[in-house]
Amino acid sequence: MSDENQAEPKHVCFACVGDSYLSNDIKKNGKSKLCSYCGKKRRGITIDDLADHVEGAFERHYMRTSPYPDDYEFMMMRDRESDYEFERHGEEVNWAIANAVEVDEAIATDVQKNPGGATRGLRDGQDGRRV
Ligand SMILES: [Zn+2]
Repeated sequence: MSDENQAEPKHVCFACVGDSYLSNDIKKNGKSKLCSYCGKKRRGITIDDLADHVEGAFERHYMRTSPYPDDYEFMMMRDRESDYEFERHGEEVNWAIANAVEVDEAIATDVQKNPGGATRGLRDGQDGRRV
């Protein structure tokens, strides 16, 4: 395992995550490090780990209830059988991430850009590609 080609992953502290379930989880299991977003040294996780949590948060907030009109689009996006193209709504994916785990847009953008983790499926959906 080598991180030579990668910059230090960004760190998000529990206080920067509004979702109470995830925030508590981070508070319990996170590592104390300088947060890349609020600049405070608090328990937190890397953006990479956050990306993995985003999928779970989506399920909690988007699968059970449908408070937002974008739910349908979002589900289409996640459906690998669908050729639904979501590219032109890119910033709404960002918005959905921000809302699912209740983070600032800057954090959501970094999650969306994250090369690994659960959001990979989102990007595949965006590109209209099957995997
Ligand atoms: Zn923070």
